[in-house]
Amino acid sequence: MKKTVICPGSFDPVTLGHLDIITRAANMFDKVVVAVLVNSGKTPSFSTQERIELLSESLNNLKNVEITSFDGLLADYCREHGIDAIVKGLRAVSDFDYEFQMAITNKKLNPSLETIFLTADADSMYLSSSMVREVCKMGGDISNFVPACVHDRIVEKIKNKKTGVI
Ligand code: ADP
Repeated sequence: MKKTVICPGSFDPVTLGHLDIITRAANMFDKVVVAVLVNSGKTPSFSTQERIELLSESLNNLKNVEITSFDGLLADYCREHGIDAIVKGLRAVSDFDYEFQMAITNKKLNPSLETIFLTADADSMYLSSSMVREVCKMGGDISNFVPACVHDRIVEKIKNKKTGVI
């Protein structure tokens, strides 16, 4: 039976850490849905459309990956879209408490839904979107943190945001 998994997140913006988890999921499962969280409770720096575009460009070599956005309960989205499991990356022990709680909650809401954790790669385990935004805002080099094909767009957006152009 074909297995479809989902990689949900803010992706504000996409980092090499996200890319690592999504690529590994795409190598393990038939289909990977990358779902940009619309209503996360925080105001994102990049719009939903921009986050989808950056992900699409970064992942266009992976033919079994689909990019979308979602709002509402992940457990319901998975039930409605025939998704078998959630795949999440674990960077450190600090990620674990929250992710463990979420995994159990999602299983209670949708008992057929599994959560699979992949350990972050040693080279990107320190990376987060918020760290990328902060470094870039201060004028630091983010080329080791984000996919090369979207680097310039991310820098331009963050610079413009800082100077109030957008
Ligand atoms: P962030 O915590 O950086 O805002 P997201 O909400 O966009 O990240 O994360 C989406 C998914 O990607 C989550 O499962 C998160 O654990 C995972 N992830 C984020 N950054 C990394 C990384 N550097 N290495 C591995 N997984 C990561």
